[in-house]
Amino acid sequence: MKDKNLDRIGVHKGDITLMEVDAIVNAANSSLVGGGGVDGAIHRAAGPGLLEECRGLGECPAGEARITSGHNLKARYVIHTVGPIYSNSAQDPVLLAGCYENSFRLALEKEIQTIAFPAISCGVYGYPIGDACKIALETTRDFLEKNEALEQVIFVLFSDPYLKVYEKELHELYAKQS
Ligand code: ADP
Repeated sequence: MKDKNLDRIGVHKGDITLMEVDAIVNAANSSLVGGGGVDGAIHRAAGPGLLEECRGLGECPAGEARITSGHNLKARYVIHTVGPIYSNSAQDPVLLAGCYENSFRLALEKEIQTIAFPAISCGVYGYPIGDACKIALETTRDFLEKNEALEQVIFVLFSDPYLKVYEKELHELYAKQS
């Protein structure tokens, strides 16, 4: 039987800062005070108020997540999560799954219905995209199976090759269900 929950997962190529969703997720570093990559783009688009709010949060360990308002973004909230720096250890997938699970937990608390994720850890943190994508999609599928409240989860990829990896993996999840 087809898993209707997979219909609540979307993939999109583009800039996550432009997404009109309740929350966008930031692939932050543990200081939470900004960095390069998607973190830098989110802080630039959100304005200085975001940095000020983040300064009040303190450190965030890998695998955990924190939430702030979206400031100048279209999104009402930013969920900041810290991915693992890839080390090819058994901890990597546990921490990466934790990023998604803890982001979802905060989303539920705030009654968020639509959320967009970047490819956490797949930039300077070096996580291989194929492995990271499987973890992202399987963790999301498992969460959606248990929780009705979240209407849509969108994965926003910055490049065609990364988009293709997500499309292929999502297709495979559908194929497994039928
Ligand atoms: P990490 O430190 O977790 O690896 P990065 O910011 O270096 O985080 O990269 C995570 C992913 O986000 C990479 O695939 C990168 O290409 C992508 N990315 C960078 N800027 C944006 C953006 N504005 N919107 C969506 N994805 C982005």
